[in-house]
Amino acid sequence: MYDKFHEECGVVAIYGHPEAAKMAYLGLYALQHRGQESAGICTADGERIHCHKSMGHVADIFTSEVLGRLPGSLAIGHTRYSTAGDTALLNAQPFSVDCNKGRIALAHNGNIVNAVELRRDLGRRGSIFQANSDTEVILHLLAHSSERSLSGALRDALLPLEGAYSLVCLAEDRILVARDPHGFRPLAVGEMEISGGGKCYAFASETCAFDLIGAVYLHDVQPGEMVMVGPEGITREHFAPEQSRAQCVFEHVYFSRPDSIVFGRAVQESREELGRLLARECPADADIVVPVPDSGVAAALGYASESGLPFRLGLIRNHYVGRTFIEPSQAIRDFGVKLKLNPVRHLLQGKRVVLVDDSIVRGTTSRKIVRMVRQAGAREVHLRISCPPTISPCFYGVDTPNRNELIASSHNVEEIRRFVEADSLGYLSLKSLRQAVADDRHEYCYACYTGDYPTDLVSLEQLIASSRKQY
Ligand code: AMP
Repeated sequence: MYDKFHEECGVVAIYGHPEAAKMAYLGLYALQHRGQESAGICTADGERIHCHKSMGHVADIFTSEVLGRLPGSLAIGHTRYSTAGDTALLNAQPFSVDCNKGRIALAHNGNIVNAVELRRDLGRRGSIFQANSDTEVILHLLAHSSERSLSGALRDALLPLEGAYSLVCLAEDRILVARDPHGFRPLAVGEMEISGGGKCYAFASETCAFDLIGAVYLHDVQPGEMVMVGPEGITREHFAPEQSRAQCVFEHVYFSRPDSIVFGRAVQESREELGRLLARECPADADIVVPVPDSGVAAALGYASESGLPFRLGLIRNHYVGRTFIEPSQAIRDFGVKLKLNPVRHLLQGKRVVLVDDSIVRGTTSRKIVRMVRQAGAREVHLRISCPPTISPCFYGVDTPNRNELIASSHNVEEIRRFVEADSLGYLSLKSLRQAVADDRHEYCYACYTGDYPTDLVSLEQLIASSRKQY
């Protein structure tokens, strides 16, 4: 069995822009938070597909010299973060191939839960794999299709997939994008005028990418929908019947940027509401509200406004922490967290602090932050988390450790409080989480908080792989 891993990613696609590579680059730049390990862009100039992908950050990879080697008015791009073992360039996306459907490039965000089975089956039929990415499985399924049109072949490739994918596909003269029938991961459609006339289409995981390139957000790609843009214009089709919607609630809790509209809702609005509801459910007798930056900022604003307590930036984050930083061999206590966060002593000194963060995963970082706030002089630390306890791993594209590393899977709130060394600990209820994202119609996935997975299949191998996974 190959090593399956979970990826957090961002995708973009541009159709009909004279500087498509630059637009894709800017889109990826805005989506950098969705993956910092590798990035890639493929362009099409009507005749050929050009690709460049590399390890590292978007701004470092795509110099103007590199972008100059990516001509054409069509582009797709991908930025990727994956944790388990394999960080090789081999798995960086997009994947580009020359197959019986022509030259195509493909990238996706999400996790295909039956990829192991599909891959095994394809292998028996003679497919050769170079990487261990789900994207390669989709490409092989596409090549195996007897449909002659690319949209037909893509439909054939997508129908056997179970799980999460928001996908962008580039051919010589067209772009196809699709979203899985549950709609786990976001994918938005935008449009922009081009100077000198004409219209360009843009697609992106989050609308913050549109803001940077000057595109207007039109709507989301619907679950089970494929959108194709080519010389004949734009067409939309449902390639599969829509299934019960399962939009990832964690996009609103943590993953997406607060300036994005995700699943048609402003993320900032959700996060502030999470904080307001948290203040109502878990009040604290305290002096100030302090966020863990950046993830806790919006919820802390909501908590402060609802509780009437002053909001204070008592922790400052260094945004320039590099991946290659060398730790001093002489151990400094809690060095990793200190690199990232530093307390503002004069704000914390003698204060009873409500510390707001979005989630506790293992509890180890949270404990370090609680200690840091206390060592900076806080008299009491009341930790408030803007979602319910994370009890189950995600199989749909958010990187969570396996179940036995999730502290809330085996410890109750009081035990976690003791572990993180807080004076009190409060989590938001599932009901309030649902309210904060305005989920009146049960359209979100809450599996990481409930253990109820929206797809039947979380295969045995998937579970075994997950229990072996290194976070
Ligand atoms: P810990 O206390 O070690 O569980 O770490 C909790 C911190 O990890 C919180 O500040 C979260 O914002 C952050 N976090 C939660 N989920 C993720 C994720 N999927 N990827 C990266 N960081 C995360």
